[in-house]
Amino acid sequence: MTFPSPSPSLFLTLPWPDIQPYFDTLGARPLTPETVETWLADWSRLAELLRERAARIRVATVQDTTDADAEAAFKDYLQNIFPHAQKGNHALTQKLLAYHAVTGLTPPGMELPLREMRVEAELFREANLPLQAAEQQNAIRFNKLVGAQTVTWDGEETTITQLSPRYMASDRATREQMWHTINAREQADRAPINELWAEVLGLRLKIAENTGFGEDYRAYRWQYLKRFSYTPADCRTFHAAIEQVAVPAAGRVYAKHRARLALSEDEGLRPWDLDLYQQTYPIETDDLRPFDGETELLDRGSAIFHHVDPALAAYFDTMRAEGLIDFVNRKGKGPGAFCTGYEAIYRPFIFGNAVGQPADVNTLLHESGHAFHAFETFKLPYYFQRDAPMEFNEVASMAMELLSAPYLTHEFGGYYTPAQAARARLRHLEKNLLFWPYMAVVDAFQHWVYENPTLAADAKNCDAAWSDLWDRFIPFVDFTGLEDAKTLGWHRKRHIHRSPFYYIEYGLAQLGATQVWGNALQDQARAVAAYRSALSPNSTAPQARSSPSMWKRWGKRSPSPNESSLNSNPFNLYPDYTNKQKNLRNP
Ligand SMILES: [Zn+2]
Repeated sequence: MTFPSPSPSLFLTLPWPDIQPYFDTLGARPLTPETVETWLADWSRLAELLRERAARIRVATVQDTTDADAEAAFKDYLQNIFPHAQKGNHALTQKLLAYHAVTGLTPPGMELPLREMRVEAELFREANLPLQAAEQQNAIRFNKLVGAQTVTWDGEETTITQLSPRYMASDRATREQMWHTINAREQADRAPINELWAEVLGLRLKIAENTGFGEDYRAYRWQYLKRFSYTPADCRTFHAAIEQVAVPAAGRVYAKHRARLALSEDEGLRPWDLDLYQQTYPIETDDLRPFDGETELLDRGSAIFHHVDPALAAYFDTMRAEGLIDFVNRKGKGPGAFCTGYEAIYRPFIFGNAVGQPADVNTLLHESGHAFHAFETFKLPYYFQRDAPMEFNEVASMAMELLSAPYLTHEFGGYYTPAQAARARLRHLEKNLLFWPYMAVVDAFQHWVYENPTLAADAKNCDAAWSDLWDRFIPFVDFTGLEDAKTLGWHRKRHIHRSPFYYIEYGLAQLGATQVWGNALQDQARAVAAYRSALSPNSTAPQARSSPSMWKRWGKRSPSPNESSLNSNPFNLYPDYTNKQKNLRNP
């Protein structure tokens, strides 16, 4: 069997015995400085085809959750393709690393991917495989427990998520009752979730020990998450900056919300005055209806992008013309919103569940930002080069929400009257602001856990640590008499249980996006140009994939203090930001 490989559509149906020979061929071909680039290109093509197959199968299952054929194809892929492909890729990675070790040569553009491959190889331990499997099992049990949390309201059994719209629309007294019902249900799972926690913590510590990190699970996880551009100390600096700048500003948002609820002088905001999920966002009290149906949603979205940038709008229109947007909720569709890549045809696909709410507009702008980023990264020659750090990926999407904001009104073909647009924008910006203190609680909590693993094995200590952090970052909500609900917050944040440490990325990205927005307030055209330049890959500068250099191309300084060195408080970047910008030459 030889390359070139089959077309993406043919590859979709190939059974493993027809795929295996491609791996065998690549494994047998000699690697020399003369052959390595062709070899990489062929391996990359194989990886693209496999990735597209996985993406299309997954998309099919969420486009129609009742499609039995799609589900069967998904299961078949997981059982009969994925494990073999993983093994095959592992062997080829070893081959490339061995070539690098012997020759000392790095193929052009492969510096960062090779570094990541090396870290993965270094972290691999046979002894950890059963522990990692047990960790996954623990996550499945956690998901099951949380997924089964239903309550009875108005004689009807419902999930907490399903109850949310009614909660939002209810008066304060009803909300209070609903809140107590939900809290009682969550408290009932306190003991089993604490048990799962003690177990998973033990597994994680053992994994770190097996990998040579002693008791320092955080150091292991840092490598695992490939956090090459910031340290735990930087995170602490970020927390302190949030405490100093974002917390007082958040206090002003909560004060406004108190006024809106007409609370008396001595009456505090109670948990039921806030969003149900994280209990950090004020409940939404108006009902903006920005669009009705998919055509209107996408027409208006396209009109907005044409004002932001014609090239980005062309990407959006291409996706629309090629059927790569499925964004409106319908019966049978899976939940959530995402952007995925069809790597073999070099196109992104975006998925959503829009029902006509303002949040849907933000989600469309957000996922389109990911898609624009994908269009640009597809220009990179090798599949292995296209992964950007997560805190960078989310800047592409979060910044697009903000860069689109000036065109939200009907005047530009957008969704709102000027008054409605002002309300939607304000709400969006306030949510962004309130996220930082909450993010700091979640991140600081995890640092505490893995700095104090013995204490953290006892859930009571976790309750206390979470509560202390809550008081430090979100002191605006009155939990008097409801301390049990406050200390339960770390049970409610699923990342803590399922994806340790994976959260600060959102806070960093939001800071990056806000800086792009700060730039746009000075000069929208220039901000958009810097945004596009940051997204566009430059294959002759492979370091472009590392976060700090990418941050610089946004026309701003890195959020990581050790990268910026000029200022230890990332929030202080705003005032001198425009001066910096003047000195910046965009490629
Ligand atoms: Zn995103």
